[in-house]
Amino acid sequence: MPGITVAIDGPSGSGKSSVARTVAGHLGLAYLDTGAMYRAATVWTLTCGVSLAETARVADLVRTMPLRVSLDPKAPGFWLADDDVTAAIRDPAVSAVVSQVATNLEARPVLVSSQREIIAIERSAGFSNGRGIVAEGRDITTVVAPDAEVRILLVASEEARLARRAKEVHGSAGSVAVAATRAEVVGRDRADSAVAEFMTAADGVATLDNSEFSKAQTVQAVLELIEEAGR
Ligand code: C5P
Repeated sequence: MPGITVAIDGPSGSGKSSVARTVAGHLGLAYLDTGAMYRAATVWTLTCGVSLAETARVADLVRTMPLRVSLDPKAPGFWLADDDVTAAIRDPAVSAVVSQVATNLEARPVLVSSQREIIAIERSAGFSNGRGIVAEGRDITTVVAPDAEVRILLVASEEARLARRAKEVHGSAGSVAVAATRAEVVGRDRADSAVAEFMTAADGVATLDNSEFSKAQTVQAVLELIEEAGR
């Protein structure tokens, strides 16, 4: 039997990264954060001194980007040539402009095809020794891996998502931190939704609303969906 693909999509603050990572660690699967690849592409373009508005040049840079990815859920990481950019790609300055790469219609298929390659490798070999992969992002259930054995859309109320992101970025979910987070999260989701549908589940995709769930409860619900799929 080939390895399993678990595809998880959702808007920012839905908790998909930490849930996907924990589930992968629990089941001995590889973990792919596809958002990090868009972030790395953003950092690479800016490092090369090219404006994100120059779409054809950005796509060329993405095609030749020297990106290396660790799929280990216990130690995910991203390198551009020898530079470890795991922390740099999370910089708020990157979050503020990453949608420009995500909505670049020449660059996007390049990243989609490398994500498909990574998934294909993990289903028969790779980091997971063929056990499979949990891949998360915005279009994994619909475009990157529509044939995945398990497809989940993780959603949460805007209030819950903003509170989580504010805690992550500002260390607090107080009103000032939430207000500062709102512009980033809402603006980014609006820009991203021009190229991917991640607020409503496609046919055959299970919607999991975790507004009222702890992380442990969400992980448990995902594990149950995987078990229901007979894996
Ligand atoms: O998941 P994260 O918030 O780190 O994703 C960063 C950005 O990458 C998103 O705002 C979106 O622009 C882009 N993205 C995408 N498709 C994916 C994953 C992320 O367009 N599958």
